[in-house]
Amino acid sequence: MSKKGRYNVYSDHLKNKYGEKVYKLPVNLPGGCPNRDGTVTSGGCIFCDEKGSGFQCLPNSMSIEEQVAKNKAFFTKRFKAKKFIVYFQAFTNTYWPLDIFKSFIRAASHDEDVVAISISTRPDCINDDYLDFLQKIRAEKGVDINIELGLQTVNYHTLKKINRGHTLAEFIDAVIRIKKHGFLICAHLILNLPWDDENDVIENSKIISAFEIEYVKLHSLYIVEGTKLGEMYKKGEFEVISLKDYINSVVTFLEHLHPDTVVQRLVGKGPQDKLLFSNWNTSWWYIKEQIENELEVRDTWQGKKCNYLNGKALARWRNSKNDKY
Ligand code: SF4
Repeated sequence: MSKKGRYNVYSDHLKNKYGEKVYKLPVNLPGGCPNRDGTVTSGGCIFCDEKGSGFQCLPNSMSIEEQVAKNKAFFTKRFKAKKFIVYFQAFTNTYWPLDIFKSFIRAASHDEDVVAISISTRPDCINDDYLDFLQKIRAEKGVDINIELGLQTVNYHTLKKINRGHTLAEFIDAVIRIKKHGFLICAHLILNLPWDDENDVIENSKIISAFEIEYVKLHSLYIVEGTKLGEMYKKGEFEVISLKDYINSVVTFLEHLHPDTVVQRLVGKGPQDKLLFSNWNTSWWYIKEQIENELEVRDTWQGKKCNYLNGKALARWRNSKNDKY
């Protein structure tokens, strides 16, 4: 839990796990996405710009080794960093022929200061062959493997509306396969999609908890010029909820979240360019502080309402004198 003890903070978790602060080294592949090239759908998710959510990365013309070395040198010089997670961040990093995917992962695992590899992808871009290979790499190199799955919401109708090209079923299939291979999972969710309501926020939290997913990243919706979402926004087809309502949604989400899940982010950082809307024109850091303050003010915490697992209806007898269990 954080210093305030109200939710599981990722940086604290990493320090406990690896004994010191660990830094992420973003790697940008010249890849694509089956939701943009017509394999699944064309056009992509309605919020996605052509950078594929990789706006903080180095150019993908650089080799993986160069990107890792350059980012590592930066963190080493600035923060005296010693341990690193290579983070395949932009686009859909498992959407490659298996041989090419293998070469990328091998290139990322040379450096002995790399303690983990984190691979961001879509739920419909994971299969057992790729996971079998990752198991071998873990055994050979002794690195942890984390798979980041974009889900955004569990609501079927909203997933259709945002043109995700998959539903909850593909996410469940990917989670089961990844867990069978013993890797950790981080789920990405957007908590203020305009077609979702509070029930969806709670259901998002319950699904993550029921699958004992280890990490979660919460994002707020950003709207970029040139995207379908941007066009809809300019035509007034939807409104973004207020910052106060976003903070309420995050608090509700945390209350229902399993106490062991680690929260990597409470709000996204958003891209820099061509923005129509991002984080209510304030900094992600301010929003994070407001959420933490709200937890304090309400005297609430992660897991406070996580009472729905393991046969909730039987709980009435759990401490009864007649309880034979
Ligand atoms: S899956 Fe990711 S890269 Fe592909 S269209 Fe959606 S947001 Fe963009």
